[in-house]
Amino acid sequence: MLPDDFTPSYTPIGNINTEHILIALHKDTLLCSDSALAGTTQLSPLGVPEYVIVIGHWQGQPVQMAAWEGELDLPADVAALELRAAYSLIGETLWLLAGRASQIATFYRTHRYCGVCGSAMRRLEEEAACECTGCGHRVWPRISPAVMVLIRRDTEVLLARSPHFRAGMYSAVAGFVEPGESLEQCAQREVLEEVGVRIKNLRWFGSQSWSFPHSLMLAFVADYDSGEIVCQQGEIEDARWFDLAALPEMPSRYSLAWRLLDAAIRGEFTT
Ligand SMILES: [Zn+2]
Repeated sequence: MLPDDFTPSYTPIGNINTEHILIALHKDTLLCSDSALAGTTQLSPLGVPEYVIVIGHWQGQPVQMAAWEGELDLPADVAALELRAAYSLIGETLWLLAGRASQIATFYRTHRYCGVCGSAMRRLEEEAACECTGCGHRVWPRISPAVMVLIRRDTEVLLARSPHFRAGMYSAVAGFVEPGESLEQCAQREVLEEVGVRIKNLRWFGSQSWSFPHSLMLAFVADYDSGEIVCQQGEIEDARWFDLAALPEMPSRYSLAWRLLDAAIRGEFTT
C-alpha cells in the first residue's frame, strides 16, 4: 500500500537532493535517527550512496531513496533499523514510502548477476529493472502474491498460528499463490492444507503490499463449509475457533490481517 496523495515514479539522480524527502537504506535496513528518518547532515559521513532514485511524489514533494550496500561505520546518532521496527518511530506515511524503497533496494541487491548467463547486471535508467550486460536478459522487481482467508462460522472465526508468530498471537490462514493457480483456488487449497477444513462463499476483502521482503497480501473472507480442524505439520502449530467477543492476541495493527479481524468484530461480514 502507498500513502494517499502519492504518485509513484522512477528517476535515478546523481546524488542526494537536500530539498527532497529522503529514505536512506543500508542493505535491508532503514537508517534512522532517534525520532525520525536520518537526514542528509547525519548521513554525510557515509559518503556518496551507491545510487539515489526519486521513487515518486508525495503531496507534490519528490521522495528519494538513497542506498549504501558496502560495510559502513554508522555515525553515533544514526541507527540501522529493520523496516518492521521503524513503524512506531516514523509513522505510517513514511513507513509506507520506506516499504516501496525497501522493495526496490532488495530487488537490486538480489539481482547483481544474471540468472541466465551469470554476467553482471546493470540498473536501467528509465524504469526499475535490471538488464544483463552479457545476454540482455531483463528482470523487474519480484512481487509475491499471498492469499489470506478469514473463515467464519456463526459468531466464530478460525484462526491459526505459525511457529514463528510471537507468543499468543493468532491470525487468519495465509499462504503463497502457486504458479498457475487463481487466487480463489489458492484460498481453497491453503485452507484445506493448513487447517483441514473446506470453505464456501469466498468474498474479496482487500489487499496490502507487505514489504518483508516483497509480498502482496490478498485478503478474503469465507464461510465454513465442512471438516474438522487438522493442523498442517511444520506450518501450523495450533488452530482453533475463537468467538469474536473473545479473540486472542491479534496481529500488528498495521497489517491487513488486523484490518480483516477488526472488520469482523465490527460485524461487516454478517450474512
Ligand atoms: Zn545474461
